[in-house]
Amino acid sequence: MTTQATPDIKSPFLQQQPVKMLIGGQWVESASGKTFETMNPSTGEVLAHVAEGDSEDVNRAVAAARKAFESGPWPKLTPSQRGRLLLKLADLIEQNTEELAQLETLDNGKPIKYAKGGDVPLTADHFRYFAGWATKIEGETIPVSIPNMFTYTLREPLGVVGQIIPWNFPLQMASWKLAPALTCGNTVILKPAEQTPLTALRLGELICEAGFPAGVVNIIPGFGETAGAALVAHPDVDKIAFTGSTEVGKKIARVCTDTLKKVTLELGGKSPNIIFPDADMKFAIRGALNAIYFNQGEVCTAGSRLFIHSSVYDQVMSGLSEGASRMKVGVGLDPTTDMGPLVSQEQLNRVTGYIETGKNEGARIITGGERPGGDIAQGYFMRPTIFDGVQDEMTIAREEIFGPVVVALPFEDVEEVATRANKSIYGLAAGVWTNDVKKAHKVAAALKAGVVWVNTYNQFDAAAPFGGYKQSGYGREMGHAVLDAYTQTKTVWVNLR
Ligand code: NAP
Ligand code: MG
Repeated sequence: MTTQATPDIKSPFLQQQPVKMLIGGQWVESASGKTFETMNPSTGEVLAHVAEGDSEDVNRAVAAARKAFESGPWPKLTPSQRGRLLLKLADLIEQNTEELAQLETLDNGKPIKYAKGGDVPLTADHFRYFAGWATKIEGETIPVSIPNMFTYTLREPLGVVGQIIPWNFPLQMASWKLAPALTCGNTVILKPAEQTPLTALRLGELICEAGFPAGVVNIIPGFGETAGAALVAHPDVDKIAFTGSTEVGKKIARVCTDTLKKVTLELGGKSPNIIFPDADMKFAIRGALNAIYFNQGEVCTAGSRLFIHSSVYDQVMSGLSEGASRMKVGVGLDPTTDMGPLVSQEQLNRVTGYIETGKNEGARIITGGERPGGDIAQGYFMRPTIFDGVQDEMTIAREEIFGPVVVALPFEDVEEVATRANKSIYGLAAGVWTNDVKKAHKVAAALKAGVVWVNTYNQFDAAAPFGGYKQSGYGREMGHAVLDAYTQTKTVWVNLR
């Protein structure tokens, strides 16, 4: 592998050799001195060498986070001061939009138009929304039935929180984790995904610049099996918040039982997206394309099982394949790119493997299923892919592919489609396309999913709770629901007699 010429971005961030980790307010190399490479998936070239954290670095970070939680300036800050730090961070994110967007695109591959127009502003927005909560986390007075008692509750932070995130929205996933934890007064050790550590680390610089006290946020890049596992097993970590695959989520939940750490899990999905014949077809087709191909299909909520009413099946399929073949697959930094590369060679192999399995099990490819050639042949690209002739039992209709691959499934009536849509171990999200208001609510109620979108898809807002039913996880992020995940309730009894 050759090291790519430094791209034209404003900060010297990528010049660091290696990019360091953040422990106790200091930027340091790993205790072992080891580094790992992060790649530019658009070219397959090395983008940066990054300090590789393992258990020794995790031990140091946990000690720093504990000290900051118990005795630093952090627990003495007023809620208003905590809120102001988060607001300052949001401003700094906004001021560095161009650089953060470029780093995100270089490291993850996603189109720059989405990194700049979506990932970065939504990250700033997330910190701003949770800044507002710092002054609004209230206890209650309890009317107990024992005479002379004054009984009230306090909502206190949990303590030291370990947070582990995936590579599909590196910056946004960091904000979903950090913002609620910090507004509640916890301290944090964040482990970004090995494929995409850069924006979390640049965010760490902005966190320092905003004035968060040393040790409140520690960022340990490294591998899941070493750094991640050490964080999960550490006896002085009070809670683990994890976003990633269901498989790893189960492992983490098992380990957390050893120390009875609190744990919240945002896991995988195989979300149904249902088009009824009374939908506005132009919007439904556009919505179905966005549901599966946004972010290269590397979205936990991707509408990867597309249920289409048989009476409009041919119409929808031809609209879909036309839309899919019109999408520009290209390098992330090209402003005209609609779909970038997959994040890694490993992810490309995984998606390619599912496409082969689909063909072997008898499904037919309508469009895509192959890699583009030409001047982007070195990147980890896969064309937008549509499968027809799919049965519900096929592997590609059951397992999360996490790539730009949709399976089309015809259906006949409402009860049938709700039953089939719910026949999954997952329950993260679902889409419904119809102009019949009664049907919309009826189906939304019947679907076993943490989020249902009607005549839209992939909408997220810091104020709207998000999370999974069934094996898509436990707990909710965003909205005030997440505050329960980062506080614990203390009941105080005072005898006034
Ligand atoms: P993953 O393999 O589960 O990895 C997620 C994170 O966990 C990474 O930081 C990873 O480190 C770390 N990890 C791996 N093994 C670990 C272990 N034994 N102990 C502790 N940490 C460990 O998932 P992924 O492939 O990166 O991400 C895709 C998955 O995330 C999909 O299933 C997707 O649906 C899900 N996701 C869910 C949501 C949601 O909100 N529900 C949002 C986005 C993505 P490494 O980077 O070193 O592997
Ligand atoms: Mg990378």
